[in-house]
Amino acid sequence: MKIHEYQAKEILKKYGIPIQDGVVITELSELQAALDHVEKELNSKQFVVKAQIHAGGRGLGGGVKFSPDRAKAEENAKNILGMTLKTHQTGPDGQLVRKIMITEAIDIAKEYYVAITLDRAKGKNVIMASTEGGMEIEEVAAKSPEKILKAWIEPGFGLQAFQARQLGFGLGLEGEQLKQFSKILAKLYTCFLQTDAEIAEINPLVVTDQGNVLALDAKFNFDGNALYRQKEILEFRDIHEEDPTEVEAAKFNLNYVKLEGNVGCMVNGAGLAMGTMDIIKFKGGEPANFLDVGGGANVETVKNGFRIILSDPNVKAVLINIFGGIVRCDRVANGIVEAVKELDLNVPVVVRLAGTNAELAKEILASSGVAIIPADGLADAAEKVVAAATGGQ
Ligand code: ADP
Ligand code: MG
Repeated sequence: MKIHEYQAKEILKKYGIPIQDGVVITELSELQAALDHVEKELNSKQFVVKAQIHAGGRGLGGGVKFSPDRAKAEENAKNILGMTLKTHQTGPDGQLVRKIMITEAIDIAKEYYVAITLDRAKGKNVIMASTEGGMEIEEVAAKSPEKILKAWIEPGFGLQAFQARQLGFGLGLEGEQLKQFSKILAKLYTCFLQTDAEIAEINPLVVTDQGNVLALDAKFNFDGNALYRQKEILEFRDIHEEDPTEVEAAKFNLNYVKLEGNVGCMVNGAGLAMGTMDIIKFKGGEPANFLDVGGGANVETVKNGFRIILSDPNVKAVLINIFGGIVRCDRVANGIVEAVKELDLNVPVVVRLAGTNAELAKEILASSGVAIIPADGLADAAEKVVAAATGGQ
């Protein structure tokens, strides 16, 4: 689960990490009070207006604006609040900006990158640090990987002081900044562990002209499976930032991920779902989604799955690919028939069922009177659904 920058900063603050604070507003009527706060409490005549969305790269997309005076801050706030911000992480449709943060502009001497995540290959958490802060770290990793310093944490020992110092030296820090940096890393590591984060990232961590080290931007991603014991983190959830069909699917325990293509897929088992997407692409089509209805699919699951797939206006044909192991094909067939009758279906549906009670399932489908295109085998099914999605050409 992702959260906003201002929420990430609240968490950092709780762990004693110095942050650049600001005021978050959702309506322009709150703007004057926010600007007053920055002027009076933070003692700054210059502002930065920052869009709050769950995506990085806001600066490059025009969602972070330096404002040298109050009038300019007002203008930027009016433009950013309510805009549809596109960054390399929002997808082509962009994301509506519902909240903005007003902060003081600070004099930055240097920007650094710091993040903690799990290195699955090594089975250890890794701290990454780089002098190339503020930039897209993916680009740094691709073009100059040597500029990303790493330290792996032994689970039984935790982060050691020498590791933090080594990273700090590697970044060229010394004296007071090195001390501050080491303290920040230790706190960030505790925070990462205690919040069940998958990633905790500060980009940039800045050294100011006055010599202070603080977090100017922060991002977290939390382990969804741990949220049951992270009540405070769960409070930060903002479903406006999530795909509405994914939110709906989660209510029914369906593993659904929306994609950009036009072939809707309903499959049982994540592996088969991945394989189905592969073969659709192999046959020249583009999957509209990943959907794993799970091992115990019943009539209700199939119906809900269908509803969610069809709520995507891009879907031009649907492929149902079920391997009956624990789930029996006849149950799935009944689910399909009920769903099709109920849902006023207007796109072709190709069905491939194999495994337990597949023959019975085919009979149910054939005698149901609903318009379904039966397929034998995965290749046949993929060809048929791709042809159906492109209007049979
Ligand atoms: P994003 O990573 O989404 O682009 P950031 O919060 O990291 O957003 O801001 C992008 C860049 O804007 C920073 O790397 C920094 O150079 C500059 N910036 C952001 N906030 C301030 C500020 N308060 N004062 C000065 N510069 C800032
Ligand atoms: Mg950033």
